[in-house]
Amino acid sequence: MTGLVTIVGLGPGDPRYLTPAAAEALASATDLVGYGPYVDRIPERAGQRRHSSDNRVELDRARFALDLAAKGARVAVVSGGDPGVFAMAAAVFEAVDNGDPAWRSLDIRVEPGITAMLAAAARVGAPLGGDFCVMSLSDNLKPWDVVEARLRAALTADFVVALYNPISSARPWQLGAAFKIVAETRGPDTPIILARAVMRPDERIRIVPLSEVEASMADMSTVVTIGASTTKLIERSDDKAPYVYTPRFYGVRP
Ligand code: SAH
Repeated sequence: MTGLVTIVGLGPGDPRYLTPAAAEALASATDLVGYGPYVDRIPERAGQRRHSSDNRVELDRARFALDLAAKGARVAVVSGGDPGVFAMAAAVFEAVDNGDPAWRSLDIRVEPGITAMLAAAARVGAPLGGDFCVMSLSDNLKPWDVVEARLRAALTADFVVALYNPISSARPWQLGAAFKIVAETRGPDTPIILARAVMRPDERIRIVPLSEVEASMADMSTVVTIGASTTKLIERSDDKAPYVYTPRFYGVRP
């Protein structure tokens, strides 16, 4: 088979944060496949077919892309941020794993992108300077029991925890429940970073102590980062937001 599927990370939003390699993969594709808002971010190119879907079923989109490639197309499947982080790359490989055996001879590549957590961290300082872990709070694809058990384990181990998919109209209570669990192990001053639409025109970033945080401060375009016990704020004068960082060093400096 001569077809190709490249799963391309578009980064958080601002096109300056799209890698040159990802831009090349987009430019050389005969077909773009993706969720509408992501496809809309890519300038139209003569001769390139665009297959936007409002379909949120990632596996269907993955099979569609693999079918196109099996017919000889060079397909770019687009994802926001990094395609391997709670996004299309896993869906494409799952489709290959369980689908038409002929798909295994296709060339499948992944072009990484800057994931939301890293873009958010860069805006406030260095909150991920120590050890951290990342979770999707969505219980669409896994049971809430699993989410809760992992969150507790991460908090017990004193990781900084970044939460993707924190809240949506279909999942209104999970983030509030998560903050209650956080309060069982972390102090009231623990910094919570709510980074919304990072590197997009409507970006909004807030740093709020755990004692004041509310689920309504986040929406589905927000990544929530919970500080570890070692995460610190550097207060600044006037109305400037503090810097947030997690030191790497655990001892006492000489
Ligand atoms: N593949 C994406 C994540 C997809 S899951 C990535 O690597 O960034 C969707 C979740 O990602 C959203 O609910 C939100 O938590 C987060 N997210 C994606 N883009 C974001 C952005 N620009 N700013 C803040 N959060 C974002």
